[in-house]
Formats: sequence, C-alpha cells, structure tokens
Amino acid sequence: MLTPNPETWRGLVYPWSRKANPEHGVPEKIAEGVYWVRFPMPMSLDHINIWLLEDGEGWTVVDTCLDLPKSREVWENLFEGFLQGKPVTRVICTHMHPDHIGLAGWLCERFGATLWMTREEFLMCRSLVGDTGRPAPEVALRHYRAAGFTEEQLDAYREMFGGFGRAVYRLPDSFRRIKDRETLTIGGRYWQVIVGSGHSPEHACLYCPALKLLISGDQVLPRITPNVSVFPTEPESDPLQEWIQSCGRIREILPDDLLVLPAHEAPFRGLHVRLTQLIETHKRELNQLYDYLTEPRRVVDCFPALFKREITEGHLMLATGETLAHLNCLRKRQQVTRETDAQGVDWYRQQADSIAYD
Ligand SMILES: [Zn+2]
Ligand SMILES: [Zn+2]
Repeated sequence: MLTPNPETWRGLVYPWSRKANPEHGVPEKIAEGVYWVRFPMPMSLDHINIWLLEDGEGWTVVDTCLDLPKSREVWENLFEGFLQGKPVTRVICTHMHPDHIGLAGWLCERFGATLWMTREEFLMCRSLVGDTGRPAPEVALRHYRAAGFTEEQLDAYREMFGGFGRAVYRLPDSFRRIKDRETLTIGGRYWQVIVGSGHSPEHACLYCPALKLLISGDQVLPRITPNVSVFPTEPESDPLQEWIQSCGRIREILPDDLLVLPAHEAPFRGLHVRLTQLIETHKRELNQLYDYLTEPRRVVDCFPALFKREITEGHLMLATGETLAHLNCLRKRQQVTRETDAQGVDWYRQQADSIAYD
C-alpha cells in the first residue's frame, strides 16, 4: 500500500513523494473505485501509469501500455488477480502514442470491449500505423534534409521509419468517439472530457469533480515538458501555439484543488502552477530562439538555443521536431523568416520588421 509521504518540489505537492514508484503491476487505491497501476517500459522513460476504474459489472481502463510481451504479462496477472474475473468493459485512450494505445486493440478483442477516444487521435493513429513496412517517403527525407541532416542521419531516419506501429496491436475497426466537454458516467460518477492539443492532435484528459481528480495523460506531466513537435506529414503546422493555448484554457476551465494523475511520474497537486510553468517554459524558449537568430541558421544549428545538453544521435529526431515547432511558431508570428538555398536547406533568421510578443 502507498504510504503518505507529502513532498513539495518546485511549487507542486506530491502526496506520495516525487519519486513514488509503486511495484510494477500492483494496483494502488487512489480514491473510491480508482486504482493506479504502473507498467514497466524498456526505454529511458521506463514506466507508464495506467488507471483502473471500477465500473459496475466491469472495469474501465484508461491507457494500456506498449504491445510488448512484458506488458501483456502484467495485464494477464491483473486479469487473474486484482480484476477478480470482472471483464474490461471499456478502454479509454487519452491519445494515440504507442505507450498509451499499444494494447487497446488487444484488450478490446479479448473482452469484446469498446475503444473510447477522440476522433482525431483514432484516425491519426490508424494512419500512422499504416507506415509500418513502407519505406520512408521522399517528402519526409526532403523535410529532414531541409533541416540540415547529413546523409548518415537520413539513413538512420530511413531505418527507424515506420517504428510507430511496431508496439501497437491491431486497432479495433470501430470506436466510440469522445468529445471535448462531454460528460461520461463511470462507476456512477461523472467524468468530463477535457481536450488539449499540441502534444498530440486531440488529447483527452478526464476530470471527476466528485473525486477532485484529473487523469491528465501526457497533457500535464509534473516534471517532463511534454514533447511538442512538427512532423513531415504536416510540415507547416504550428502545434506550439495550440499547446500554449490549450494549457491556458485548461487552467481557466479546471479548478486548482485537484489531484492530478499523470501518465508518467507521480500524482501531484498544483495543476495551475504546473500549467503556468509549461506555458512560461515555451515562451522563454521562443525568446531565446528569436535572440539566437540574428544571423541565418539551419534547424540543426538552433539546438543550443533550446537544449542545455548536447543533442546526441538518439535524440536528433525529437530535438528537430521540437525546434521546428518553435521556428514555425515564430514564423507564424512574423518574427522569423525562412529561406531555402540551392541545396534545399532551410535557413531561418529574425524578420527585420518583426512584431513584439510577450
Ligand atoms: Zn504522448
Ligand atoms: Zn506517454
């Protein structure tokens, strides 16, 4: 059982400490009918938090982990033990990333359950899993060449292309759409869907006023700044503006006195403080990047303006996507211009008559 061990860290309060790390696969009660199970993952982000909600004759589960033998084993143990033979009747995915949706199809198939998720997440996921097994398209290679990738880095991209679908079980052929501000009844209580955008297109959080809980998925994480990236499928998108707006909107809609249940790391209080931190972080980064662009630079030249650590090959894709998100945001604000040279490489610099933003 979790022992209360409140810890305050950078303006947030963690009721079970910041490093609370429940035994993997062992559910911990968070509130009446709400359980926290931590699943292991074989990467630097080494776990995901899954939420089990008692729901009449069955269980509603929120997020599912990657489709890997280890995650299936954790689920099997839960079916035989904790879930007491009661079926999973509903699978809700906060968003389409493989750590969240990986086993959704498998759970739905096994129990005849329905997948509940927002439409954009469902459709985007179907489209991305379709890339597995295809070669990297020319337009994507051009996108990364424009960012300043070397031929070796482009080869590495070709290698990893299609990786998205490798840890995602076949998705169900139909789903139940959930929408922003829609109210669901789970276990006799109301849970409201709160949508955010920027980390993924139509990310759903779940807010229960009676229990004062927010299942926040990846939209609000306590320490990590969720990745906001531009991808070659939509190179002119401005997800950072959407992200900043969503964080501000969620801060307006939701009360501050909630226990936030994030998909990674430990539950915490201090929702408004955290949202403000997330907004301010990006505003500061936008300013740093703008200041750095007094002379023309490529995407890969901009990393020092945004990242304290040197970007290694393993983080190149993530860093490129994030940097492009900041550059596209500055371009939409008419603060930065982009020019493409004869080799197809893009160069960014401050716009002479740029408008000031705070
Ligand atoms: Zn995510
Ligand atoms: Zn995640």
